[in-house]
Amino acid sequence: MTEIHTPFLVIGAGMTGLAFANFLDGQDYLVVEAQSEIGGWCKTVHRDGFVWDYSGHFFHFKHPDIEAYLRQRMAGEKIVTVEKNSLIYIDGCHVDFPFQKNIHQLPKERFIDCLYDLFFRQEAAHQVDSDSFEGMLVEKFGRSISDLFLIPYNEKLYACDLERLDRDAMGRFFPHADMAAILRNMRYPDNASYNATFTYPLGGAIRYVEALAGDLDEEKILTDAPLVSVDPTRKVATLADGRSISYDHLISSAPFDRLLDMTGIDHDRSLFTSNKVLVHNLGFDKKGPEGVHWIYFPERDVSFYRAGFYDNIMGQDRMSLYVEIGLPTDAEVDVEASRRRVLRDLEKVGVVEDHRLIAHHDVILDPAYVHITSASRRAFDELSATLRCAGIYSIGRYGGWTYCSIEDNIVEARQLARRFNRIL
Ligand SMILES: Cc1cc2nc3c(=O)[nH]c(=O)nc-3n(C[C@H](O)[C@H](O)[C@H](O)COP(=O)(O)OP(=O)(O)OC[C@H]3O[C@@H](n4cnc5c(N)ncnc54)[C@H](O)[C@@H]3O)c2cc1C
Repeated sequence: MTEIHTPFLVIGAGMTGLAFANFLDGQDYLVVEAQSEIGGWCKTVHRDGFVWDYSGHFFHFKHPDIEAYLRQRMAGEKIVTVEKNSLIYIDGCHVDFPFQKNIHQLPKERFIDCLYDLFFRQEAAHQVDSDSFEGMLVEKFGRSISDLFLIPYNEKLYACDLERLDRDAMGRFFPHADMAAILRNMRYPDNASYNATFTYPLGGAIRYVEALAGDLDEEKILTDAPLVSVDPTRKVATLADGRSISYDHLISSAPFDRLLDMTGIDHDRSLFTSNKVLVHNLGFDKKGPEGVHWIYFPERDVSFYRAGFYDNIMGQDRMSLYVEIGLPTDAEVDVEASRRRVLRDLEKVGVVEDHRLIAHHDVILDPAYVHITSASRRAFDELSATLRCAGIYSIGRYGGWTYCSIEDNIVEARQLARRFNRIL
């Protein structure tokens, strides 16, 4: 088969891969994408007047230059800025997010339990492994806050035992709060978090993808082109159709464990585990609850861990939901049965009343949340250093085996491209 040569071979046309190609300064590249469309997990579906992302993707830019860069390339796109209103549903009540700062909104007995355990949290702390995510929760917030929300919610999301996860598994995305902040919030509510306000293009998250792709040469993005193997010594990669591509540098946004498989580098599979998320996008004939953007559901008898309301973000008059279910990667999924159960659960929690479902879309994100453990961090550091020596750079949310936002993906990709721009 013909051999193509490129100085920069990029695996994946998601935000990371496209951002890397964007920030290369006039150098040649080739992006190979396994799917028939670009965007990775930032794709958007337009159906029957509803606009749905693969899962609700909302944007909280910390770098004004990145936001400006994207917006310059989105002429004509309406982007709304929204002050977040997110709630937690527990036992028929709604509590503002973050839970730990709003325990005073719980019924009195539960509030007393939470406050008591928060104050005497040291008594529970010595019974847990403080290096684990679960241990961190109990150590910082006490038993009741952990048991009512933080543990069951995160177990539903990650679909794993939280004792396995690193203390810092969620990094800056975890809303920390000390005793003083919690008490102060009871008198002077301040639920600001990293995503207190967010922006959203009315055409969906794909508009950010298109903003990046717009500057690239279409012929240099191959879709339906899954890469199946990489020979790090010869610097030759092979596509599923047998074509081979030689490269000087390989930039991969494929999940790290799959990149290792492609390169044939031996690794312990048990270190790189993740969940998958089944997303049901649901469009109804009329409006549902108003004003709320998403609700967290920690209770185990509700199948989903979160439901979000696009209609309240985009100002629409029909309820448009995304509902997320965390699952182990090896779980068998009956999508139809799951959707039926979701509709029953939505009725149970009062979101759906006499609404009629008129459109839907379902997708499984696999991987969705990687399980960050101290062993996975160590193995990633070692193995990615070995790959770098062979000119292979594994970046992005799944390439970096981490928890991050699309802005983080762009920042990382830009940093790497700039390094090459300086060298070459
Ligand atoms: C449920 C959920 C909600 C989220 N919400 C938000 C949010 O609100 N805001 C936010 O900023 N971020 C959010 N994120 C994170 C965001 O989705 C990611 O940071 C971002 O999409 C990662 O982009 P990426 O390009 O690194 O990876 P991906 O989007 O996974 O792209 C990688 C691409 O590589 C391709 N690929 C993989 N293997 C191969 C191969 N062998 N050959 C060729 N191509 C290959 C894939 O098909 C894919 O297109 C969310 C993530 C999830 C799971």
